[in-house]
Amino acid sequence: KVRTRFAPSPTGYMHIGNLRTALYAYLLTKHMGGDYILRIEDTDQERYVDGAVDLIYRTLKETGIKHDEGPDVGGDYGPYIQSERRNIYKEYAEKLVELGGAYYCFCDKERLDKLKEAQLAHKMTPKYDGCCRGLSKEEIEEKLKAGVPYVIRQKIDPHGTTSFEDAVFGKITVENSTLDDNVLLKSDGLPTYNFANVVDDHLMHITHVIRGNEYLSSTPKYNLLYQAFGWEIPTYIHVSPIIKENGKKLSKREGDASYEDFINKGYLKDAIINYIALLGWSPGGDKEIFTMDELIENFSIDGISKSPAVFDEKKLSWLNGEYIRKMTVEEFLEKANPYFEKAVKKDVDKTELARLLHDRCEKFSDIPEQIDFIDALPEYDISLYTHKKMKTNPENSLESLKNSLPVLEEISDWTEENIHNALFALIEKLGVKNGIILWPLRVALSGKAFTPGGAIELGYILGKDESVARIKKGIE
Ligand code: GLU
Repeated sequence: KVRTRFAPSPTGYMHIGNLRTALYAYLLTKHMGGDYILRIEDTDQERYVDGAVDLIYRTLKETGIKHDEGPDVGGDYGPYIQSERRNIYKEYAEKLVELGGAYYCFCDKERLDKLKEAQLAHKMTPKYDGCCRGLSKEEIEEKLKAGVPYVIRQKIDPHGTTSFEDAVFGKITVENSTLDDNVLLKSDGLPTYNFANVVDDHLMHITHVIRGNEYLSSTPKYNLLYQAFGWEIPTYIHVSPIIKENGKKLSKREGDASYEDFINKGYLKDAIINYIALLGWSPGGDKEIFTMDELIENFSIDGISKSPAVFDEKKLSWLNGEYIRKMTVEEFLEKANPYFEKAVKKDVDKTELARLLHDRCEKFSDIPEQIDFIDALPEYDISLYTHKKMKTNPENSLESLKNSLPVLEEISDWTEENIHNALFALIEKLGVKNGIILWPLRVALSGKAFTPGGAIELGYILGKDESVARIKKGIE
């Protein structure tokens, strides 16, 4: 049975790249009918952030990435929080020493710092020099008894090469001489990622390891650990990073790196999930809108791309608009209402406003700008009255406003239908094109060329008194 895991570190932050990894692992598992495990990787105690684990639960729940096992839901292979697995790592590290795949190292910080300094001075890549590799059993016993602080390091044969197969990147081979005897168990008794990921993935029966390709170069070392233990090696699936159009990383500071950043910008979770699914994975074919079930149905490792994926916010925005269109007007109103409240103090028909914006909105945070003319008419340039297709210019627009004003003033019941009928009667009477009357009105009412509706809808939303006042202003 397929078993995958999402193994976030609780950083207080759900990076879009991490969420995509979580999603791919989920899609692969569910496509193949397996189990999806959540494991919290919190062994780096310095990086601990309050509330960070809750954020992980919340985001997964919100996005519909549902785990079958994890700290909050239990399972047969727990605990699922690494800091609660200390004893397990210690036991396995000691076992690995016995098997010859690791050794105790008592070198202190001072020695290691000096070593590093010397290596850097010789333009060498810093690497542990294997000083403690040759300690005798007795020497080790003695130091342990005396309570000398120690770490356990991986013992890597410096000769030969190590290879592994990655489902996306193919066969990768490295010279062992480039591999460092990395620390597996730190002096505080906690494991490094290098060790914990292997032990946990094995004990939790993980069959497919999906993670960012920053781990690609360390994977040979993990492979050597599996071999030393005599454990079965999982299928590795490394995914390329997400970058911006300028080639840079998504950045926390610029507010375009985390799931929350995008939610705060007014994107819908379903659109975000749909978009990131396609960021680095191609379903083949032209279809771009996928529900979670459709993603599960279509997902395959073959479609994962080797090259970095370029995050295109315009595309996300377009997709978000498509998701907005799929909502009913009522659902849209419910989501849009907080933005309405913020942008408009006047008492207007919100349902009508929602109906208008529903067709023209890509993301909720655009709403305030789209409706900022309601409370106050913005300053506008007379050139807005010039519209080639409508055949309008400032002169004939003035004429049109003068003609429209009395017609509108006469309406007693201010409904869209009545406004429509009055204006179209005028258009017919004058024998002009619709735009000659309607375009100048739109500009006079909103001070804008792009509005959520045409003259009739805008007039209705603004109310009779305000509309009349704005048209008069246009005539001045
Ligand atoms: N804790 C690691 C991270 O957040 C997990 C990497 C992995 O999936 O193995 O980057």
